[in-house]
Amino acid sequence: MFNDVAVAARLIQAEAGRATGMDAPSPRIAVIDLDVHQGDGTASIFAGDASVFTLSLHGAKNFPFRKAVSDLDVALPDGCGDADYMAALAKALEALWREHEANPFGMAFYLAGADPHEGDRLGRLKLSAAGLLERDRKVFAALFERRIPVALSMAGGYGRDLDVTVAIHAATIGAAIDSWRQWNRRPPGRAKCADAHSRGSERSERGGDNVAR
Ligand SMILES: [Zn+2]
Repeated sequence: MFNDVAVAARLIQAEAGRATGMDAPSPRIAVIDLDVHQGDGTASIFAGDASVFTLSLHGAKNFPFRKAVSDLDVALPDGCGDADYMAALAKALEALWREHEANPFGMAFYLAGADPHEGDRLGRLKLSAAGLLERDRKVFAALFERRIPVALSMAGGYGRDLDVTVAIHAATIGAAIDSWRQWNRRPPGRAKCADAHSRGSERSERGGDNVAR
């Protein structure tokens, strides 16, 4: 499938426009691309478009050899392991949240490649399976903390051992389910409608922000 995230992002923006009236601003979207190959297609499509912020963490020496320009690119050296990766991710997410504070995201797309794994034939990085799961949990937790809904895409994975690749993808889905449960959980004694109401007014304040920009 080509440009799936870009098409979905544009569709969401158009649908939101139809649902809320044409005068309402399109929701701003964050693309968090943690496949080991740069998200060059998405970066090119949304170059110069402030309504979609593209973040890509990828192998510096990996395909594509001529990189596009994302809003935030983090190029990692060959052999990058868990600790260095998590430090780079934390720094990148901090930058993303600064963007969010300035001009909030209405939703995010998360591309969780299994190919940064140490057993990947094409990845060139050396993340462990536990490191990749920690990566996923960090992303989901940070999005939940800011109440930014997320759509997950599986992205690449080319393990020497296919079962390992499958297990990494399955662990990502497990982390997504855990996060989804967190979204649906309500603290005891707190009414659902009150919660929805407070989120709704937060969103309309943010909408007001967008109009002013
Ligand atoms: Zn890839």
